[in-house]
Amino acid sequence: MALLEVEDLTVKFYTEEGVVTAVDDLSFRIKRGEKFGVVGESGAGKSVTALSVMRLIEEPGRIESGTVRFDGEDLMEMSESEVRDVRGNDIAMIFQDAQTALNPVYTVGEQIAEAIRHHLDYGDAAARDRAIRLLDDVGIPEPEARYDDYPHEFSGGMQQRVVIAMALSCDPDLLIADEPTTALDVTIEAKILDRLERLAEEYDTAIQLITHDLGVIAEMCDRVMVMYAGRAVEKATVEEMYYDPKHPYTVGLMSAIPRIGDRQDRLQTIPGTMPDLVEVPSGCSFHPRCPFAEEECTRKQPPLVDPETGEGVGLSDRAAACLAYTGDLDNELDYEVEVRGRAEQPDDGQPDPRVRRPDSEPVRTDSDPVGLDTDLLDQNDDGEDDAGGLSDG
Ligand code: SF4
Repeated sequence: MALLEVEDLTVKFYTEEGVVTAVDDLSFRIKRGEKFGVVGESGAGKSVTALSVMRLIEEPGRIESGTVRFDGEDLMEMSESEVRDVRGNDIAMIFQDAQTALNPVYTVGEQIAEAIRHHLDYGDAAARDRAIRLLDDVGIPEPEARYDDYPHEFSGGMQQRVVIAMALSCDPDLLIADEPTTALDVTIEAKILDRLERLAEEYDTAIQLITHDLGVIAEMCDRVMVMYAGRAVEKATVEEMYYDPKHPYTVGLMSAIPRIGDRQDRLQTIPGTMPDLVEVPSGCSFHPRCPFAEEECTRKQPPLVDPETGEGVGLSDRAAACLAYTGDLDNELDYEVEVRGRAEQPDDGQPDPRVRRPDSEPVRTDSDPVGLDTDLLDQNDDGEDDAGGLSDG
């Protein structure tokens, strides 16, 4: 049995502009101790998925349907107080912005100790000792002295470490980290991710890592789910995604990664932006941005299938949602993954998978609701279609 099993989850927000389907029929699972990445641009539904797992969706949002089973128990069936016990104790969350996660009027040590007292029923002295040990574990120097400092006396990187210490304070089975290092510079990011990974292994904690950064996924994760417009469009192991991506959106994300040693002047990006979720394009929601789109893509929503067999996959770990795998397209997906060997990769000596963009002219479809060119990448290097690409958050 997986630690977390999410099945057919649909979450909607009832706004004045209309109904936003932020998560649409989403299924995935995370095994005990596994590091599971969730990647996609802003608006893909990554954070809403995490909040749904924690049952933290607020008005005007509503979990419309689906089950979220944690350790065999359906969180959707639990009372509010039962879910509160699970939160922080069995499932903990690290939010993107450490500053808002910390209370400015309590010392950092007290904030960690409070969670320990509440969830683990420790006495004052034992909770203090455990909090100091956790501060030490996340790399806060002189943790005993810093226990009594307030959040504003810590740098951004140290505040984020405190948030990680808080999340780990009750030894959770699942840690949901929502863009945990977005606000930090790259050297601090590397240190924090490294520490997070080490601590997760030490505490045998599974991680659901939400990010827009495929580099971070490659560093840390075992498996990955790529999301677009509230749906999963690809699921794979990290190796499969890097060496054999199956969905054109994943291909676009892969092509947009900057690499040391690249001689091109401009970064490749995905044209256009995530669609307005009040009015998702018909058929495959990625079709206005997809260079392989055909007429059928505007009519039929692609199911998640095994890319080898074209058959439905349920909770399977290898899947892609593209009509190319269901036999509905006239043409094949025309891209190549090129893996550079060590001899061609002088900077770090690591094999470097990269995706070659299609040489063919982009296919235009009749229904192009946002008026975008369907050229996946800016092939003539003039930047005209470079409005999209990965964005923060
Ligand atoms: S080829 Fe069609 S179905 Fe596949 S991702 Fe592109 S638009 Fe979607």
